[in-house]
Amino acid sequence: MNARNSDSKKSDLKKDDLIVITGAGGFIAGALVKYFHDKGFTRIRAVDKKSLPEWYQRVPGVECLCLDLSIRGNCERVCEDATEVYNLAADMGGMGFIERFRIECLRSILINTHLIEAAYRAGAQRYFFSSSACAYNTELQKVATAHALKESDAYPAMAERGYGWEKLMSEMFCQEYWAERGFKTAIARFHNVYGPLGTWDGGREKAPAAICRKVIEAKDTGNHSINIWGDGTQTRSFMYIDDCLKGIDMIMHCDELIATPVNLGSSELISINDLVSLAENIGGVKLERDYDLDAPQGVAGRNSDNTFIRQVLGWEPNTPLSEGLKATYQWIEEQYVARKKGKRVVH
Ligand code: NAD
Repeated sequence: MNARNSDSKKSDLKKDDLIVITGAGGFIAGALVKYFHDKGFTRIRAVDKKSLPEWYQRVPGVECLCLDLSIRGNCERVCEDATEVYNLAADMGGMGFIERFRIECLRSILINTHLIEAAYRAGAQRYFFSSSACAYNTELQKVATAHALKESDAYPAMAERGYGWEKLMSEMFCQEYWAERGFKTAIARFHNVYGPLGTWDGGREKAPAAICRKVIEAKDTGNHSINIWGDGTQTRSFMYIDDCLKGIDMIMHCDELIATPVNLGSSELISINDLVSLAENIGGVKLERDYDLDAPQGVAGRNSDNTFIRQVLGWEPNTPLSEGLKATYQWIEEQYVARKKGKRVVH
């Protein structure tokens, strides 16, 4: 954190303005609902296609709607009276999901296409789109030591098949709604978000949660080995959920960033092998490593170049991985124990 901070980018949003948050049954948007609620916003509309019992978290007093936003009429319904719309709804998951279900990932284009039009027509003041580091040119990520990605590295385009192309196209919608119609849009390229209340089992989980779960399982079963996707040398950076929420708020309310994609990620690079060691240290165990070279593993190396976000916001995601992973590990362990006892848990 240096000189300029969030205080210099105050939002003109009033506490009783209607905020619409989509994907709210999932990880990040669910936490975003709570974030705005805790900040004192009184009118929040949370939307997801999942049925309510499947939502990861629900905040008392928040309007919750279960609607499929790939359908235009539903987008019109949810944007009624909205002042701000945050689009975090997408069919997505970790590498195992996005490499296997490219069509489902591509189909999320319908959500953004209908939602941005509905938000514009409803007279909303601002629109947020959750893009991804998967929008970056994959050619630049072929070695573990690849340079950190700066915003201009998305072009010439060669995004991740399926998921990444959908993100890139949806970004373009946001840019053109500003260019042609003067609609204020914000675009953040998230880099691997993790934390408590995230997906930790079932096939859509990402590396930090999957690794914590495997360490917990190994300890519990006494089978002291761990299956690792790839050879473990792949590198990534991981952003703690609290940083993600703060970043969304700051990016959405910064006029210098209108219609301008910006990285929202940590720049603390780590290999998957070292991530496993970190989880082992937290769990107080050492495991035999079994590398699955045929498993999905994504690009060889990816990090977030935070020069631009630092320059504009005077801030970047800064929760140390060791700290965030500890909180995540403890939460997953609680879920694991609760599930063993037959209790209902978040996946
Ligand atoms: P998530 O899967 O936990 O949440 C997404 C939610 O969208 C789900 O609850 C899902 O039911 C909902 N959804 C899907 N299709 C829908 C539809 N047609 N109508 C209504 N709701 C629908 O994912 P997340 O990790 O919270 O990600 C939120 C956003 O951030 C997504 O756009 C994702 O692509 C993006 N993102 C996430 C990460 C990450 O590391 N988690 C990284 C980059 C980008």
